[in-house]
Amino acid sequence: MTLGGAPIYVSTRDPVRRARSLPEAVRLGLAPDGGLFVPTTIPRLAPRWSEAETWPEVVEAVLRPWLTADDADAWTRDARGALDFPVPLRPLARDRYLLELFHGPTLAFKDVAARTMARWWGRALRGAGEAATVLVATSGDTGSAVADGFAGVEGLRVAVLFPRGGVSDVQERQLVARRPGVRAYAIDGTFDDCQRLVKGALVDPELAALRLSTANSINIGRLLPQITYYAWASVQLARARGEDLRPLVSVPSGNLGNLTAGLLAAAMGVPIGGFVAAHNANDFFPRFLAGRAAPFAYGPTVATVANAMDVGAPSNFERLHALFGDAWPAPVTGVSIDDEDALGALGRVWSEEGLLVCPHTAVGLEAIERVRAGDAAWRGVPAIALATAHPAKFPDVVARATGQRPTHGALEHLVDAPTRVEALAADASALALALRRFAADEG
Ligand SMILES: *Cc1c(COP(=O)(O)O)cnc(C)c1O
Repeated sequence: MTLGGAPIYVSTRDPVRRARSLPEAVRLGLAPDGGLFVPTTIPRLAPRWSEAETWPEVVEAVLRPWLTADDADAWTRDARGALDFPVPLRPLARDRYLLELFHGPTLAFKDVAARTMARWWGRALRGAGEAATVLVATSGDTGSAVADGFAGVEGLRVAVLFPRGGVSDVQERQLVARRPGVRAYAIDGTFDDCQRLVKGALVDPELAALRLSTANSINIGRLLPQITYYAWASVQLARARGEDLRPLVSVPSGNLGNLTAGLLAAAMGVPIGGFVAAHNANDFFPRFLAGRAAPFAYGPTVATVANAMDVGAPSNFERLHALFGDAWPAPVTGVSIDDEDALGALGRVWSEEGLLVCPHTAVGLEAIERVRAGDAAWRGVPAIALATAHPAKFPDVVARATGQRPTHGALEHLVDAPTRVEALAADASALALALRRFAADEG
């Protein structure tokens, strides 16, 4: 089903399947029945899309098929304006590449979607003439990307929930930095607790007056901007190699938003040979893929050195399941890498190539080795690991593996920046109270 050629969106759970437009789905975040919005069709890329020569041209080519004629010009212009930082493909030894997604303002790939959504949301609110509170649960990087992207958007309050003690010191400093219209809450619990609180608040009728929505990757608006860099990686690879190749793409995964975007890219027609779902010890999805876990039989959250992927119950699994069942548009292999092997991989890229990577990227690189070792068919295929964050966000872990402490100029001003943060129990009524207070203070 389509809306003037563009897909429409339904809930993963709604038996009546009431359809919404993309602006409505973005504004709501979660469907009213607690399900996630999924498109009823996946559009194909236009036939000559890969002739796009620049990153903004690729952004345009990828997003346009998702949009109605009414929205297409403004929404693609917003995205091109938001994605004003480079996403280079860096060659490594042994036919591997890194897609560097961390050159945005908060130094993680979350900037791609957060910056784009902030502009889309501002536009949707101006259209509707109303104020809203955006909730975001973060395992470390989403919170600061959303706070940075959304701060100062008229009509929006942003409440960021992060697991107290579950993020790196640098991530925490980014999260609690004082920004207009933004409040950070340190939750006494895990990321999964934060995510559960957000989902609960969104469907709580008592909080309806606050017009809650979410910028987590349960919001379909997060995923569409992320499709663009899979296409841009493909264009850069073809240019570097002088031929069209179907690479193996390793996606450091937690909540499975990034992988969902990658599979949507493949379904749109981006040439990708296969995906590696590269998880840390939080291995529900690799176990599911191997037939060792039933759908939705999630495990508890385990703390690891790749903390942004410490997700026991990945919320996008529900969307992946609804979109594809297990008929993936490209083969998906699940791998779980423990801390020792992640640190080993981090040390090896440093000693072999003189390059520092973040622990999540190290999980992605190690997972490529695993897949190539396990299946000869992948040995002759170029492999791309998504580099999801800058190593300077994780100086302690990087120092443990390499003896080097990476830094970045964008983080220096945070050392003595003013902060605003409240500690909160992992409890729905405590959050409700805090959100009411926030709304009352900000008007
Ligand atoms: C969020 C995050 C991930 C995991 O991405 P998902 O979309 O949640 O699977 C991986 N690496 C870093 C650095 C992140 O911030």
